Amino acid sequence: MKVKVGESILELVQGDITQQDTEAIVNAANPSLLGGGGVDGAIHRAAGPELLEECKTLGGCAPGDAKITKGYRLKAKYVIHAVGPIYKKEGARAPEVLASAYRRSLELASEHGIRTVAFPSLSTGAYGYPVKEAAPVALKAVADYLKGHPEIELVRFVLYDSKTYQAYEEALRGLGFPEFC
Ligand code: ADP
Repeated sequence: MKVKVGESILELVQGDITQQDTEAIVNAANPSLLGGGGVDGAIHRAAGPELLEECKTLGGCAPGDAKITKGYRLKAKYVIHAVGPIYKKEGARAPEVLASAYRRSLELASEHGIRTVAFPSLSTGAYGYPVKEAAPVALKAVADYLKGHPEIELVRFVLYDSKTYQAYEEALRGLGFPEFC
C-alpha cells in the first residue's frame, strides 16, 4: 500500500529491512548500540563487522533518540540506529518515546541529505509494544514529519510478517491519506 503525504510517498511492504535499496535503513537498536537480536542482529550480519566498530564510537543512544552510521556492505549508504521504548518499562510515556524515535530518525535523514528511508516496526518485537497500538503511533509520527519536510521523498515501512503488515495497513487506512498508484 502506498499513500501520498504532502509531496512525499509513504509506503508499506512486507519484507526484510536488510535488503532495501533506500539511501538509509533504520535499525531497531538498543541503548548500547552494540548489537542484539531481531532486526539489529540481521542488520549487523548483513553490514559486516565494520558496523559494530563504528557503533562502539557513538557512546550509546537514549530511548526516543537515534544515531547515524555508514551502511558498509548493505545496499543502503547509511544505517540510522533508533531506540524505541520498552513497552512495559515506559508505561504511559511509551507512545511519545516511540514517536520521538521515528521523528529523530527522520531529522537525521534530513540533516544528511537522505531522501529515501526504510523503517522496520520499532519496539514491536523484543521490546513488547503491541503492534496494533504501535502502528498508528508510528505512522502518525512519520506522516506529521513528512508534511513539513518534502526533502524526504519516500518512507517505506518494511514489515516482516503478515500480521504486522496488516496492522500497519489498517492503521494507515485510518489516517485517510489519498492512495498513490
Ligand atoms: P525491538 O527490540 O525494537 O522490539 P525487534 O528487532 O525485536 O525490535 O523487532 C521489531 C520488529 O521487526 C518485529 O516486528 C520483528 O518481527 C521485525 N523484524 C525482525 N527481523 C526483521 C527484518 N530482517 N526485517 C524487517 N523486520 C524484521
